[in-house]
This record gives sequence, structure tokens and C-alpha cells, in this order.
Amino acid sequence: MIDQHAAMERVEYEKNYPLLGSVGADHMELLVPITLSYPVSDLIRVKDELPRLIDFGFEVEEFGSSDLIIRTTPVWAAQDAKSIVETIIQTLLSGRDVQIAKLREAVSIMMSCKKSIKANQYINEAEVRGLLSDLCKCEQPYTCPHGRPIIVKITKYEIERLFKRA
Ligand code: ZN
Ligand code: ZN
Repeated sequence: MIDQHAAMERVEYEKNYPLLGSVGADHMELLVPITLSYPVSDLIRVKDELPRLIDFGFEVEEFGSSDLIIRTTPVWAAQDAKSIVETIIQTLLSGRDVQIAKLREAVSIMMSCKKSIKANQYINEAEVRGLLSDLCKCEQPYTCPHGRPIIVKITKYEIERLFKRA
């Protein structure tokens, strides 16, 4: 049995992760800057790290004592700018000396989860085959980027046991 959400997350993750490592010069200024609010104590902890968001193509500034403003976003991320910056800030708050790889990973996981079909969403046979063939090409087809299993094997014997036939 295959968890379709987890499978698609893995496929998306392996697509997104390299993309985030090669953020181009394709930036755009937001006509209406996005504001994020944080407790003052959190903002004090991350304010010195804000220039690091440039690595991902985001220009983020402090605004007052408890707000951040996203002014510039990479073009590819325009739709998700808010959730991407939130994920980066959350990851920065989660520990000291957060490495760039860790930030890339957190953003890739978040984006993959958002882009993937839901577990109870109907997909047709062609889509199932497409998903399986994409999954087969993945480097790590057995776990989703959160570490949960994608494939579970249930044998005929185990089913028989459930019915007390074995
Ligand atoms: Zn998910
Ligand atoms: Zn997952």
C-alpha cells in the first residue's frame, strides 16, 4: 500500500531542494509588502539573521518592534512568499547556528507538502501510474521528507491472520 500524499511529497521534495540551492537573480518587488508579526522576544533573536534571507532571494526588514516586512521575493516564490519566510524564521528560531542546508530543507519540505495531493483525494489510474513512475526515479522512494513511510507491505498471511484464518 502506498500513501499518495507522502509519495508526491517525496517527488516534489527532490524537485524543490535543488531549485532552492540555485536561486537566481529573478527578484521582484512586492507592490504591497507582506507583514509578519512576532513576539518582540522572537524578533530580537532573529533580527541579525535577516540578511541571510537574501540567499533565498527575499529582502526582509524589521518594522516596528514586533513586525517584519517582506519587500522583495524571487519571482518563482511570489505565491508562497509568506509561508516560505515564515518557515525560514521558524527554523532560525528553532536553534542556534542554523546552517543553510537546514533552511533549504525546511522550505523544501513545507513547499512539497503544500503542493501535494491530499491523502483522501481521488486520482485516476493514469495519475497513479505517473506518480509511481516519478517515485521510482527518486533517490529515496521509501520515506517522505518528514521521515514517514511511503510504502507499507501487507502480506496475504497478515490479512489471513486478521481474520483468524492463519
Ligand atoms: Zn505533508
Ligand atoms: Zn511528509
